[in-house]
Amino acid sequence: MTLPVTLTQFMSEQQRLFPGVSGNFTLLLNDIATACKKISHLVNRGDLIGVLGNADSENVQGEVQKKLDIITHDIMENSLRWSGHLAGMVSEEVDAPIQIPSPHSRGKYLALFDPLDGSSNIDVNLTVGSIFSILRCQEGIEPELVEFLRPGVEQVCAGFVLYGPSTMMILTTGQGVNGFTLDQDIGEFILTHPQIRIPVDTQEFAINMSNQRFWQAPIKRYVDECVAGTDGVRGKDFNMRWIASLVAEVYRILMRGGIFMYPYDLRDPSKAGRLRLLYEANPMAFIVEQAGGACSTGRQRILELIPTSLHQRVPLILGSKHEVERVIRYHQE
Ligand code: MN
Ligand code: MN
Repeated sequence: MTLPVTLTQFMSEQQRLFPGVSGNFTLLLNDIATACKKISHLVNRGDLIGVLGNADSENVQGEVQKKLDIITHDIMENSLRWSGHLAGMVSEEVDAPIQIPSPHSRGKYLALFDPLDGSSNIDVNLTVGSIFSILRCQEGIEPELVEFLRPGVEQVCAGFVLYGPSTMMILTTGQGVNGFTLDQDIGEFILTHPQIRIPVDTQEFAINMSNQRFWQAPIKRYVDECVAGTDGVRGKDFNMRWIASLVAEVYRILMRGGIFMYPYDLRDPSKAGRLRLLYEANPMAFIVEQAGGACSTGRQRILELIPTSLHQRVPLILGSKHEVERVIRYHQE
């Protein structure tokens, strides 16, 4: 009988195989896992403990905050602040980088996170998640803004935890993508989905069709061709999916392929897209590429973008390799 592999055992094994993975890093990941277990518990309890609904506040991006946006941010910040592994943090819910208060020691990593992705889904009991991205920085410094504005290729780790019918963690440290299911009875993430690969071809696309009139020509062409099905140039029928929760969309694509698009649109020319580069697009791009998929704005590889601000938005097209490559080709033509 093979015993289940816990997240901690898995990371210890990675440490042994890849000398670049340090013990501190494993401890940092444990802190993130602990925070996500707490969040999983709260999300699961829902209205029994009064955590659903709106808070009376907006975040820095002018979005109405859910109570759980604030609570989950506090859980992440508090779980990560004291450990000594981080030099600083960035969250979707706050304006500026979070410093590690002295006298706490500072480590050599930066954490960037979206504490509750898809939070507009929480009141209708649909899947939400937490997304995180880890960068390395010089040890012991008090990181300035510029330390966080690193291209996605420099991430040392990215992951997300999905609070769905099961709570799952999807993780990459640059050696493929592995999935862990939270065993609620023992409180451990157990390796259940080793070395996830995204099928290169797909017949599923996900996009918010109500924005169609704002799209640019390459996206219109791609979606028109999908919708035309066997009558069109693609010669096959497609299905459309749209959950409006990035974590849920990416998880589905990891499991069975597909393409997700939140493209550039002309509605508000000041916003390049909808999703945030540092704590949504970059970690998802790292995961998707490590699983054999592709991730682009349509014109540039997401992981090579040089960030200009903490809450910068980008167009995001990700998923099955051949379909993403097709969309990129349509942008070039
Ligand atoms: Mn989000
Ligand atoms: Mn969020």
